[in-house]
Amino acid sequence: MSASLKAKIAEVFDEPGCDKNQGKSEKERKKGCTKQLSPGAAAGGCAFDGAKIALQPVVDVAHLVHGPIACEGNSWDNRHAASSGSTLYRTGFTTDINELDVVYGGEKRLFRSVREIIEKYDPPAVFVYQTCVTALIGDDIEAVCKRASEKFGKPVIPVNSPGFAGPKNLGNKLGGEALLDYVIGTREPEYTTPYDINIIGEYNLSGELWQTRPLLDALGIRILSCISGDGRYNEIAGSHRAKVNMMVCSKSMINIATKMQQRYGIPYFEGSFYGIGDMSDTLRQIAKLLVQQGAPEDLLERTERLIAAEEARAWARIARYRERLQGKRVLLITGGVKSWSVVAALQEAGLEIVGTSIKKSTKEDKEKIKQIMGDDAHMIDDMTPREMYTMLRDAKADIMLSGGRSQFVALKARMPWLDINQERHHPYGAYEGMVELVHEIDRAIHNPVWQQVRIPAPWGDDGETLDAVRAPVAAVEPAVFPGVRAWAMGLEPGVPA
Ligand code: SF4
Repeated sequence: MSASLKAKIAEVFDEPGCDKNQGKSEKERKKGCTKQLSPGAAAGGCAFDGAKIALQPVVDVAHLVHGPIACEGNSWDNRHAASSGSTLYRTGFTTDINELDVVYGGEKRLFRSVREIIEKYDPPAVFVYQTCVTALIGDDIEAVCKRASEKFGKPVIPVNSPGFAGPKNLGNKLGGEALLDYVIGTREPEYTTPYDINIIGEYNLSGELWQTRPLLDALGIRILSCISGDGRYNEIAGSHRAKVNMMVCSKSMINIATKMQQRYGIPYFEGSFYGIGDMSDTLRQIAKLLVQQGAPEDLLERTERLIAAEEARAWARIARYRERLQGKRVLLITGGVKSWSVVAALQEAGLEIVGTSIKKSTKEDKEKIKQIMGDDAHMIDDMTPREMYTMLRDAKADIMLSGGRSQFVALKARMPWLDINQERHHPYGAYEGMVELVHEIDRAIHNPVWQQVRIPAPWGDDGETLDAVRAPVAAVEPAVFPGVRAWAMGLEPGVPA
């Protein structure tokens, strides 16, 4: 690992805005956040993947991956970050290096690729991503980008986050560092207003930012730049003139918020667009900080009026589902979206939360879950797929809300499932998004396909059901033919008896 990359990683781990890191001893902090992998466990993305995820939603930029083609294939467009304009970000660019480049170096090929992109697409900037192979053979992407910027008169930004540097979260932050080092503060916005804010760590997945934007528009608040969902290069370059930064709860790019505070004196706060109460708190915080920064005071009162009207409208729309959803039980296994943020809206729709995961929750999150759900709240620290399967199969839950990785557990148990993590297809942001979430739960639970798939399959000519054939086999001693017995008990492959 090059000395400059090592120094950058050490700097990122010394993040004052990360409570978890600050709580660690000096020695522990040096070890970084990488967990020891256990065999069979999913490892998640690499640092390159993290940087690409964090920056790819900048829509008008060409994202060029310097490495073997598989790296680009690994990370290309695997989320649903939406754009309101340019679609260049969805074109996969890679130098696709081969064996000869590994022997002779890939820098010339990289330079030629940058030239080709600029000639063909003329983007406002090109982002160049380092990967494991090109870092190991010693390609100096910083030097090539500098030379290309001078030659073509366009920003060519090196993103030095090769896969082996660490996990995906580190890559998110290294992507943020590239913006801090080469983009933010390099241009002036055309004009500024006392109502300018940046939103950091929001990726506009399935268009969620567009559920919040009308609310801000109604208050006259301008999103000077969003880093990085539906982002534009020039907006991010001029983002240092914002009055307030909002850090979206995921903290994936907290380093941008803290360093912009140090460099440009922009205060930041952490907020969330998920859940009705949280959305209102976020609007209040933005208004409060803008007034502190010099915006007219009537903003506070206008914000309260908007919140009252929007909350009333959202609760009324959610209450309409109560009759259909009353008493239905939800198992909530989430990672990215804070569990307790959505619980209140689900309860208002008459749903019962039978369990919620707290794997990524902080101590305060857990307290909050207890407050909302009572002392007997079923908090699940780390549920194995087998436990999820049993819970769903025994009908202790009517639907599971989780990320894509657990979807097959629910489908094997023939139970409805809804994706609420990063690959989700529906936007669940702001007030509108909570109504959408309840609507999607209703659609999933009442989908007629579940009645169909739960009917036992006919077996044999006389119409005897498969379950009737299985019953005597299932009664045999467990030690005898364990495989056959598992089948007879209706268990699916991969789920032991
Ligand atoms: S770990 Fe290295 S080789 Fe694999 S995808 Fe990431 S950058 Fe590419």
